[in-house]
Amino acid sequence: MSVSSELITQVMSLREQLRYHNHRYYVLDAPEVSDAQYDELFQQLKKIEQNYPELQTLDSPTQRVGGEAISAFQTIVHTVPMLSLGNAFSSDELKDFERKLKDRLETTDISELEYCAELKLDGLAISLIYENGLFKQGATRGDGATGEDISHNLKTIRNLPLQLNTLNPPTLLEVRGEVLMPKAGFDKFNAEAQLKGERLFANPRNAAAGSVRQLDPNIAAKRPLAFYAYSVTQIEGAILPNTQYDVLQWLKSFGFTISDDIKTGKGLAFVEGFYADIQQRRSLLPYDIDGVVIKVNELAKQQALGMVSREPRWAVAYKFPAQVASTVLESVDFQVGRTGALTPVARVKPVFVGGVTISNITLHNMDEIRRLGLHVGDTVEVCRAGDVIPKITQVLARGESSSLIELPACCPVCQSPIVQDEKGVIVRCSGDVYCDAQVQRRLAHFVSRKAMNADGLGERWLEQLLEKGLIKHSADLYYLTAEKILAANIEGMGEKLADNIIAAITKTKHTTLQRFIYALGIRGVGEGTSLALAQYFGTLEAIKSADEETLKQVPDIGEVSAKWIVAYFSQEIHLKQLEQFLAAGITWPIIDIEQAQHQPLVGQSWVLTGTLSSMGRDVAKAKLQQLGAKVSGSVSKKTTIVVAGAEAGSKLADAQKHGVTVWDETQLHDLFAQHNV
Ligand code: NAD
Repeated sequence: MSVSSELITQVMSLREQLRYHNHRYYVLDAPEVSDAQYDELFQQLKKIEQNYPELQTLDSPTQRVGGEAISAFQTIVHTVPMLSLGNAFSSDELKDFERKLKDRLETTDISELEYCAELKLDGLAISLIYENGLFKQGATRGDGATGEDISHNLKTIRNLPLQLNTLNPPTLLEVRGEVLMPKAGFDKFNAEAQLKGERLFANPRNAAAGSVRQLDPNIAAKRPLAFYAYSVTQIEGAILPNTQYDVLQWLKSFGFTISDDIKTGKGLAFVEGFYADIQQRRSLLPYDIDGVVIKVNELAKQQALGMVSREPRWAVAYKFPAQVASTVLESVDFQVGRTGALTPVARVKPVFVGGVTISNITLHNMDEIRRLGLHVGDTVEVCRAGDVIPKITQVLARGESSSLIELPACCPVCQSPIVQDEKGVIVRCSGDVYCDAQVQRRLAHFVSRKAMNADGLGERWLEQLLEKGLIKHSADLYYLTAEKILAANIEGMGEKLADNIIAAITKTKHTTLQRFIYALGIRGVGEGTSLALAQYFGTLEAIKSADEETLKQVPDIGEVSAKWIVAYFSQEIHLKQLEQFLAAGITWPIIDIEQAQHQPLVGQSWVLTGTLSSMGRDVAKAKLQQLGAKVSGSVSKKTTIVVAGAEAGSKLADAQKHGVTVWDETQLHDLFAQHNV
């Protein structure tokens, strides 16, 4: 095939871009694009070079490893080059890897080939030299041929053995592995850095890389780093076991930490099974990984296969789909919530990440914007792991015409002045009942499933009823009639629909005190607090007339919530609405306070996570609450029990982190049976 000048220009441009990103990533620890974007550029170049071998050059990024060493460190020449790994992003590419193994090993039955499957730890590669059992020197991978001497920092890593745990050490041993920052350490480190106003790291990989490449070992010593060994590249004065798996166990016996997830097996079905299992448990692992590494287990076969340019032929990194991507922040809107809080929402150029297309991302509050140093027009990194809500994790590059994100001078909906809360983090619209957004959000909250549960009265109809002036406050709902709705000429509204809406509202008249309190939307009074109030006081009258001191006696109610509750019930407009609700016939069963306060789980805090096979999480939650427990959405040291269903996510990891007891669904069932709920 002849090579066009356009293709040559494209190749040169791809190489230039890849070199630029390599420098930012490997030397500056400050990448500007996501790994997925980098990988895409890399694959594009690789494909062109495969199709047009005449375009291949020895200095192409596809032929080289990593980035150059920083001159501030002493340079170390690696006796055995430190390679990268080939990638597979799909089953087909994995099959391709195996097909090449089959050809090279000239084996007829590839299904008999044994693999060692490991985690692809997301840190940075390190080489360690031991002489006569003593740690001598440690270096980064650098460009694969030469790295940086970072022995001073590596010595501060607590799980890195300075002396091998054997009476008969090899005279020379070179161990390779990954230095990483475990997730828990990373979270704690970043939280502390934020408090001190110091630089935050975008992810544990950058944190680990930035920490070991410090000139002052005192800095590295303060960072929660760990070393995981994964291979031996030089040995003198001892004999290595025959397989990769046994080498790892051998290293373990010397005192090295190895990952808990290492398995051997034959065939691609084994590999796919390992990949799927790890992908499912990924969020529970104590460290970040970006895939699994599949290696031919037998060392003799590894040797026979050898290497090609920048990677060994006997191993492949089978990577997970990207959970991070980069995109451009196009604008920021401020949404007004039911308590008037203004929440900044990022509108980003649609981007596919973690299996979905994302265009809106909540930024929570102005503090978050300041923490990220975010400007409109910036290129940002977006992360969406599992079912976790997407978030902007860092600014990757400032756009040419990037502009500051400023608080609006007044409410974007009703133009009332805005006020800042005590801590200056939450900004509120002062419009209250005059702000349509607040009124609408409150109504939506009032009828929502966990509040009055007016099934069939969706946001669309609420909006219309509001717009036509048929309702203003939630109490007005109970004075609507089908005739009034029809007379308002709402588009798409018919007799049947109007009847259904009225029926849905009427049904809510029989509720519980807890639901009713929650539905009122009092600041600081969520589902759990509503339940606590109902069980402690038993009647609406008692809650209404309680003073701050009495309210503070209720489990879970602190000074601030007590103030808000008192403030709510002291407003004339709220008292008038309560009268209207009761006059409309809203009722709830009488509560036996004595019994409620002696429920078996009173004072306990439970968390549900994962999928329960025999009941919805909401049902389980209601039953636990019936027994007096508070059911919370996040795990802390104060959590009594976490119930984990199938595919439990990060909450299970949190439970392990805080040493909280974890129950399975059967135990929960037994509890309900025991108490007859
Ligand atoms: P790699 O990270 O894809 O794979 C090779 C590395 O895997 C090894 O050097 C080793 O450190 C590591 N590894 C982890 N667990 C291992 C195990 N069990 N056994 C053996 N090795 C293991 O390749 P790379 O050359 O280090 O980096 C390339 C990747 O880095 C790219 O694919 C991209 O994701 C990222 N990158 C990103 C940018 C950017 O700007 N975002 C720039 C350059 C590179």
